Amino acid sequence: MVTGGAGFLGSHLCERLLAGGDDVLCVDNFFTGTKDNIIHLLDDPHFELMRHDVTFPLYVEVDEIYNLACPASPIHYQFDPVQTTKTSVHGAINMLGLAKRVRAKIFQASTSEVYGDPDIHPQKEDYWGHVNPIGSRSCYDEGKRCAETLFFDYNRQHKLRIKVARIFNTYGPRMHPNDGRVVSNFIVQALQNQPITIYGDGMQTRSFGYVDDIVEAFIRLMDTDDSITGPINLGNPIEMTVQNLAETVIRLTSSQSKVIFHPLPADDPKQRQPDISLARSTLNWEPTTLLEEGLKATIAYFDKHLASHNITHVDSSRFASISPLLADGTTAQVYPACP
Ligand code: NAD
Ligand code: UDP
Repeated sequence: MVTGGAGFLGSHLCERLLAGGDDVLCVDNFFTGTKDNIIHLLDDPHFELMRHDVTFPLYVEVDEIYNLACPASPIHYQFDPVQTTKTSVHGAINMLGLAKRVRAKIFQASTSEVYGDPDIHPQKEDYWGHVNPIGSRSCYDEGKRCAETLFFDYNRQHKLRIKVARIFNTYGPRMHPNDGRVVSNFIVQALQNQPITIYGDGMQTRSFGYVDDIVEAFIRLMDTDDSITGPINLGNPIEMTVQNLAETVIRLTSSQSKVIFHPLPADDPKQRQPDISLARSTLNWEPTTLLEEGLKATIAYFDKHLASHNITHVDSSRFASISPLLADGTTAQVYPACP
């Protein structure tokens, strides 16, 4: 089972699991995910799709759970922050409860955001983080931290087999065209010859992992023996500034775009780079996709996607009204708050 299976990472994971001979149940409430991401899988008899919100209990029979359900881009997770925390926390409780009942192995898509704005660099798994508990990113960061706590308590208390991955910035085809993340923003802006919006002075750093490499690591982690629980960093340790990313995207798209500067959003981490020694030694894994290679594949995807959906203008500024445009050109549903 893949929760969040109709999203960016989830849809690639579903594909990879099917290609490896697994039966896949994709569970999603389509908050940020879309059927377009998995439409090519719907005719496969080994693939099932279920519309469900993980903040409610789920009774199915499965042997492995990949828990990816959660909006991941700041625009999306700040849209309904209470629902974001519920998705991480109630979602974890429900999926862990399910795993306990059917004795399934369970993987958690945690995040580098558990390190907050880190004062240790690069980040290793034993660093406890520097996180604001009451800021605009906290619904996501603290929700994910609490989910990790639940995973480790279910492991200690109920002997559940857990696999916790701390995923660093990942990019690739099927990112949302206006989810506000830096790679999709810059590519969409460059393809449309719109200004490239750098927040702050562009000297903040990130390390970008390509989706195929990261999904490969998910599967390797799930297949480790039961003593391996994580948390384990998954990402690409090659760090770059946001300014440098903007220049690379402009070059690769031969764009006429100019760079413009906006204020830095609150609590925006200044630097982020995974130490992946643990993933290297435990999973015998490291990313193999060069940034330019991954960016070219992502640019090709957006080029085709924007043309086929006849999207001529995407307001991908984080300061635009928060009304996510879905891949099919419609506006995302406002997920109703639970009573
Ligand atoms: P995404 O927004 O594309 O996918 C999330 C999916 O979860 C969507 O299909 C969405 O509809 C679904 N979802 C959200 N709330 C749900 C709910 N309550 N019930 C059921 N489904 C729900 O994001 P993504 O980039 O694919 O991220 C997937 C996971 O990986 C998330 O948990 C995210 O926190 C984690 N992660 C991603 C990154 C990254 O760079 N992409 C980095 C760190 C962690
Ligand atoms: N960013 C930017 N311009 C954009 C979108 C993002 O300069 O149009 C910056 C953002 O402020 C952050 C970095 O790029 O410093 C990565 O942002 P993203 O939202 O992709 O991920 P996160 O902040 O969660 O790492």
